[in-house]
Amino acid sequence: MKIGVLALQGDFAEHIAILQRIGAQAREVRLPAHLDGLDGLIIPGGESTTIGKLAMDFGLMEPLRAFGQEHAIWGTCAGAIFLSKDARRQQPLLELMDITVERNAFGRQVDSFEIDLEVPALRQVDPRQNPYHAIFIRAPLIESVSGSAEVLASLPDGRVVAARQGKWLATSFHPELTADDRFHRYFLALAGSNGKQ
Ligand code: GLN
Repeated sequence: MKIGVLALQGDFAEHIAILQRIGAQAREVRLPAHLDGLDGLIIPGGESTTIGKLAMDFGLMEPLRAFGQEHAIWGTCAGAIFLSKDARRQQPLLELMDITVERNAFGRQVDSFEIDLEVPALRQVDPRQNPYHAIFIRAPLIESVSGSAEVLASLPDGRVVAARQGKWLATSFHPELTADDRFHRYFLALAGSNGKQ
């Protein structure tokens, strides 16, 4: 499996390290040609406005949208914002996934937190179904999920923090910052599944 990681800004190196550990080929993506031959793409955490502006500067917006019509894309935190249809403010978005996000919904950097989540979908890659320890850093909330998008995980108060739509995945938190590789293995399964988006 060949997985690209958008390497314009943010914590792409952590995603690449996990992908290599679980046996995928990982490639940094900075230019449209780097998408050739990939089975899926991860958009890392970082700063979504910066990622969007750089993607425009490097001519990546349309190639990424076209790639997403055929392939799996996973956005973590800032990446989830960039993948969304609506962030309720003006910034470059891929506008692929039928989710509305609220940026920095939990407050400032000092309000970052960690919490155990129930994520039933991860049973596909590990039947033991232990809670998933999620790290939130100036995280967005997935305010609404529409169309064919579905909720994968919520906080105890019901607010949505992970969603999937076909081969697209959005997580408010950072699986690349933990030793638990279940979300990366889940994404590899999505990327390898048959059919288009
Ligand atoms: N606060 C950032 C944004 O709105 C996301 C933070 C992150 O990716 N950890 O883009």
